[in-house]
Amino acid sequence: MNTDYSPHYLILGNGPAGNKAALTLRENDPQALITIVSDENIEFYYKPRLTDYIAGKIGSDRLRVNDFKFYEDRNIRLRLGQKVEKIDPVGHRVILKHMEEVGYDRLVIASGSRARLLPSMESYAEHLNFVTSFREVMEIKEKVQEAKDFFLLGGDLVGFRFLNMLRSMDKNVTMLIFPDAFWPFNLTDEMLSAIEAGVTASGTRVYSRDSVSRIRPRDRGFEITTKGGVQENADLVFSFNGLIPRVEFARGTGLDIDRGILVNEYMETSLDHIYACGSCAQIYNAGINSYTTSIGWPNAAIQGETAALNILGDHQKVESAGRKYFDLEGVQIKTSWWENIEDPPSV
Ligand SMILES: Cc1cc2nc3c(=O)[nH]c(=O)nc-3n(C[C@H](O)[C@H](O)[C@H](O)COP(=O)(O)OP(=O)(O)OC[C@H]3O[C@@H](n4cnc5c(N)ncnc54)[C@H](O)[C@@H]3O)c2cc1C
Repeated sequence: MNTDYSPHYLILGNGPAGNKAALTLRENDPQALITIVSDENIEFYYKPRLTDYIAGKIGSDRLRVNDFKFYEDRNIRLRLGQKVEKIDPVGHRVILKHMEEVGYDRLVIASGSRARLLPSMESYAEHLNFVTSFREVMEIKEKVQEAKDFFLLGGDLVGFRFLNMLRSMDKNVTMLIFPDAFWPFNLTDEMLSAIEAGVTASGTRVYSRDSVSRIRPRDRGFEITTKGGVQENADLVFSFNGLIPRVEFARGTGLDIDRGILVNEYMETSLDHIYACGSCAQIYNAGINSYTTSIGWPNAAIQGETAALNILGDHQKVESAGRKYFDLEGVQIKTSWWENIEDPPSV
């Protein structure tokens, strides 16, 4: 690029990966044009605090990481409420839902993930609730406050956070735990039994090694029946079965995609000038000669930073966040992809 030219860095996604990429680019390139596009209507917010928000313990001001002025001061353009429908890598542009085209010199895809819906649950999807974004939370907040009886299906890490929230609100909870709900991590039998014991001891009715055969709307709420013969009623049913990368807009563009967008250790995709980071990416790990999806806030930020530095001409391999333990109902799980965050580090 010639020295008079200000490149346009376009960042698709307003989570920790996208924000860390934008800030790293700005710190190192004061002249560049930087745009963040997100289909949500809220500024960058702390997902780990969503449960405190649902419970009414904090207001929406405490969800926000940075306000609009923060971006104005850094000359980063925020385009909220705008969904990317398609990427055109040949024309170096993305196409938004309202058909506007936005050009780029370098594109960082940081589109995160959404709730995984198990194929066996597809026919009941309209009865299920999820907790992965502010938009979903806005839809359910009041209903959760009013409801008394809850049925939780699966039980991934967000699910256990939600369970703790319901306990703190004195709600009645029944949980059907699936060992593969922690996808991409599978619970061993031993872990499952220990977690089950922990959940039961805290007063939650819990089932496992069973599956749903029917969810039926009733006058008030729903009736849930399992193949093992359990029948329960609940005001609200929630599904917590892990997250899958949001990459629909990238299919058919020539990008290599498996579950997520495949990137090498430098966060480069299979196409020139396009990088991917955070939970939408699947990163090559030379140690195991395979690609792994990484979830969790700290890793998303590290990957955003690595993508930005490499765009700027470095040649840095991504490192994962330090290994820590987190407590899942008394079971200590060692991980580098998730850390139980009460007050997330800003990026
Ligand atoms: C309730 C909850 C609690 C959590 N608690 C923890 C915790 O304690 N510890 C931890 O490590 N992690 C936690 N997480 C996970 C953590 O928040 C995620 O790992 C992290 O946000 C991933 O960052 P990301 O930048 O990759 O994607 P995201 O934060 O998901 O951001 C993706 C962005 O891309 C945008 N986007 C996607 N597709 C499009 C499109 N087509 N067009 C326009 N915009 C698009 C989205 O609107 C969003 O702005 C929690 C998550 C939830 C939901």
